[in-house]
Amino acid sequence: MGFSASILTLFPEMFPGPLGLSLAGKGLKEGIWSLEARNIREHGLGTHRMVDDTPAGGGPGMVMRADVIAAAIDAASPEGDSRPRLLMSPRGRPLDQRRVRALAEGPGALIVCGRFEGVDERIIEARGLEEVSLGDFVLSGGEVAAIALLDAVVRLLPGIMGKEASGEEESFEAGLLEYPHYTRPAEFEGRAIPAVLTSGHHGEVAKWRRAEALRITRERRPDLLREVADQPVTK
Ligand code: SAH
Repeated sequence: MGFSASILTLFPEMFPGPLGLSLAGKGLKEGIWSLEARNIREHGLGTHRMVDDTPAGGGPGMVMRADVIAAAIDAASPEGDSRPRLLMSPRGRPLDQRRVRALAEGPGALIVCGRFEGVDERIIEARGLEEVSLGDFVLSGGEVAAIALLDAVVRLLPGIMGKEASGEEESFEAGLLEYPHYTRPAEFEGRAIPAVLTSGHHGEVAKWRRAEALRITRERRPDLLREVADQPVTK
């Protein structure tokens, strides 16, 4: 049984969306991973299937009810389901490649997508939801964030990417941003490919790429370098 994703959303028609195409879509068809999008509204209350209510304490917008989300979670993830339960949320820990890799090595994920002002705080504790953020900006709902997270996870699943190696040298895998890429033509608008890359010296190429990755990371994301320095040296 492959990686299994269950999405709880008010907009199940947004899935699989982009995940139905390209590498992820091929993986879905081949059964390398599975995806179900469940409508939270099925657990809504009354004839109107209400899922939200006004915020306690006043203020604008609506809040998704804890009892409704609890019913949706319990239906999608009965006891014994070992998958982590995520809540897409701008207050969460920002997603990074390390968390993505850990998720890809696990059985799957249950992902709750918020809408409106977000969810009643009590559901987070009551169902042990891990809040995950896509970054320091506000989306209108968790669906796009869930799609982005799953896209990052699924491409790491065994059998998804053609060449096993192609995931390993990328940005963040070594704690660094990636070195620059070049391909034909040899000259483009007066700009040549760096000579070392066409020299045929694999050792020199590797050295150059490492130096460029360091330079770019130092310039753009010095915070990542501090993390690399803090990591124990492997291999
Ligand atoms: N009132 C909230 C924003 C709610 S946005 C606040 O100020 O924090 C509605 C929903 O979109 C959220 O419940 C969450 O599921 C999703 N969302 C918005 N921004 C996100 C982000 N940066 N990362 C992940 N999910 C996000």
